[in-house]
Amino acid sequence: MPVKVDQIVRSKRKTLALIVKPDGSLVVRAPLRVSEKSIREFIEHHAEWIKKKQAEALVALPPAPKQYVSGELFMYLGNAYPLEIVKGQKKPLLLEENFKLAESVRDHARLAFERWYRVQARQVLTERVNLYSSQYSFQYKRIGITSARTRWGSCSADGSLNFSWRLILTPIEAVDYVILHELVHTVFHNHSRKFWNKVETIMPDYKERRKWLRKNGQQLML
Ligand SMILES: [Zn+2]
Repeated sequence: MPVKVDQIVRSKRKTLALIVKPDGSLVVRAPLRVSEKSIREFIEHHAEWIKKKQAEALVALPPAPKQYVSGELFMYLGNAYPLEIVKGQKKPLLLEENFKLAESVRDHARLAFERWYRVQARQVLTERVNLYSSQYSFQYKRIGITSARTRWGSCSADGSLNFSWRLILTPIEAVDYVILHELVHTVFHNHSRKFWNKVETIMPDYKERRKWLRKNGQQLML
């Protein structure tokens, strides 16, 4: 399914413009004579930009319960994808260019999303943890996935790492920051100067990434 356009406003302007409104809806401003096909091509050409802008809009909104209705935006790795309800789909939930929810599980949409996010979280987080551990010689015991709403990750005294599946909603830069933070805790079990020095040596821009989480994190709860 192509990008969903909420409104096309035609006027005497000369060029096409895309506007993502604060609620994430997409408005196209178009000259009077430009064809539907040209508008469609213009939108497809800017699909990535639209996803980014919609993600920014979404995280800036006050947290509200999800309705699980067609067109509603859901996050994955920092991008916003609209939901599509699909008849006759076998898998409960898929992510292609949109999130596709089987109509048969509509009443359990929240659960379908949580399961899907958990599977992705385990896969992506394991991969990134292994990447950072092998590159910077960290030793950890195991990875657990939690539903925590108040902390993205933790590291126990024995070197077990826990991450909230909700972390998978954030951009990969933020995911990597949380992973590195917990891995450095396998060496320094506190937030001492040595701890932060180690984080900064490996990830010089960690403050930016942490800032993103602090600013947007609370909006990402389902
Ligand atoms: Zn910490």
